Amino acid sequence: MLTPTDKIWHNGKFIKWEDAKIHVLSHVVSYGSSVFEGIRCYETKQGPAIFRAREHARRLVDSAKIYRIDLKHSIDDLTNAFVELVSVNNLRSCYIRPIVLRGYGDVGVLPKGVPIETYIACWEWGKYLGPEALEQGADVCVSSWTRMAPNTLPALAKAGANYMNSQLIRMEADVNGYAEGIALDSSGYVSEGSGENIFIIRDGKILTPPLGASVLPGITRDSILKIAASLDIQVVESLVPREALYIADEIFFCGTAVEVTPIRSVDKIKIGAGKRGPITERIQKKFFSIVEGTAPDEFGWLTPVPAHVAVV
Ligand code: PMP
Repeated sequence: MLTPTDKIWHNGKFIKWEDAKIHVLSHVVSYGSSVFEGIRCYETKQGPAIFRAREHARRLVDSAKIYRIDLKHSIDDLTNAFVELVSVNNLRSCYIRPIVLRGYGDVGVLPKGVPIETYIACWEWGKYLGPEALEQGADVCVSSWTRMAPNTLPALAKAGANYMNSQLIRMEADVNGYAEGIALDSSGYVSEGSGENIFIIRDGKILTPPLGASVLPGITRDSILKIAASLDIQVVESLVPREALYIADEIFFCGTAVEVTPIRSVDKIKIGAGKRGPITERIQKKFFSIVEGTAPDEFGWLTPVPAHVAVV
């Protein structure tokens, strides 16, 4: 369960956590009209640092644009708001959740005259699939649910409504005893997990589905592409047939929540040696050393959060 913090950012001002409420007839409640982000702030020796804050702010702006949502806040405004919010709430490490939604006005599907509300909340958060999964690997399945087809719900937008599909995938996996489900796209190629991108390794080479395979353009995915290049590991963005999963040497998920989590079985078929493989481990180590500030921030991914000075 999430532990409330003191303040939430609303349309440019801080309000109390308890006051961040919307009306039940807000457009978003009936029609899922929201776009949002999920961002991690890590504790480092130099203080808290937000991972790729600008890239997340940019994706939020992009998601709003796709849905004709007139977001009044710029990438710079949003990035500054993330920093101020973590600082005001005095957190050392946390998860940050910006949400842009269509609010209370008219109740028709056409959102004319419906106000846009922007909220940013943050709270302390641990490991998503549990700390053991980061080392041992997760047991996952291929979902019977297909990811949204192109021309239905746009996958490049991180929209609330997409997570109805994600919920189906995640709940089905859960009732069947798996940690997560991998969805295929509408052509039957591997797409992504309910909340993470996927990388498949065979013979020292890495494959990941392209953006056209109904995947979210993950910020962690992009970071893995850059980390792999820096380690001289070849990555190809290519369509991945389902059975390539079963014969892979290694597979891992990546995303803000799961960070870099190995997969040790798919549909009860053991992947490689059935535990975290060597390439996954090299990438995972480099990822954690950067985000936790124990290695130089060679890509400029961390935004430091200054300590909050209380106004008396
Ligand atoms: N795919 C989906 C469906 C997601 O929800 C997420 C999490 N935002 C990801 C991929 C990974 O994206 P990111 O690395 O930006 O968190």
